[in-house]
Amino acid sequence: MLLVEKGTPGLKISRALDKHGWRSSDTAELAFEDCRVPADHLLGREGGGFYAIMRNFQNERLVLGAMAMGEAQEALELTLDYVTTRKAFGSTLYEKQVVRQRLAMLAAQVEAGRQLVYHAAWLDAQGVDCTREVSMVKAYCCELVNEVMYACVQFHGGMGYMRESTIERMARDARVHSIGGGATEVMLEEVAKRLRR
Ligand SMILES: Cc1cc2nc3c(=O)[nH]c(=O)nc-3n(C[C@H](O)[C@H](O)[C@H](O)COP(=O)(O)OP(=O)(O)OC[C@H]3O[C@@H](n4cnc5c(N)ncnc54)[C@H](O)[C@@H]3O)c2cc1C
Repeated sequence: MLLVEKGTPGLKISRALDKHGWRSSDTAELAFEDCRVPADHLLGREGGGFYAIMRNFQNERLVLGAMAMGEAQEALELTLDYVTTRKAFGSTLYEKQVVRQRLAMLAAQVEAGRQLVYHAAWLDAQGVDCTREVSMVKAYCCELVNEVMYACVQFHGGMGYMRESTIERMARDARVHSIGGGATEVMLEEVAKRLRR
């Protein structure tokens, strides 16, 4: 792994990427062409970059799971505010059993996801190999947040589809969680390899 300073000859930001969500962060492709880097810019040991990135992935995946559960909780709270005030067909949306039961089940799942994050973080802090649990966190929490966002947009009705509503942006921002840092399918393979304790 090499540190390449901004402005190094041969390093070019070749294309800024126009993202579906996370629009407040810039993401771009970098191109390296005849880019010479001093030997003292080596980070760690030569040939060890892959393992360093893999180690970092554990932390990144835990953090993404925690982010996902925080976003899911906020979305549920926003939606609770909305459905308890919005009236349709003679009552608030919350008074419709199907709406409040869906929110109740999602709240239970988010609580379960959060506890899984805490458990994996605790194992990691003990220095235990927790690739299995961290991969579970990444797969479960990052799919769940999208399930929550789908329901929350749905219960906001037409307003949930409008750019002016917070939930619309939150749903777009959450989409990346099941892709970035290792797609769900890849995470499930990591879990599957470790199913037998
Ligand atoms: C906003 C954003 C920021 C990012 N930031 C970074 C960054 O800072 N650093 C970095 O290194 N990367 C970054 N990435 C890249 C990210 O990690 C990859 O996009 C992600 O790992 C998926 O890889 P891919 O795009 O090559 O998709 P592919 O590998 O082409 O996979 C496409 C899809 O195929 C399916 N799939 C893939 N493999 C399997 C499999 N083995 N079995 C079954 N199904 C499979 C999944 O559904 C997957 O989403 C970022 C991506 C985004 C969108």
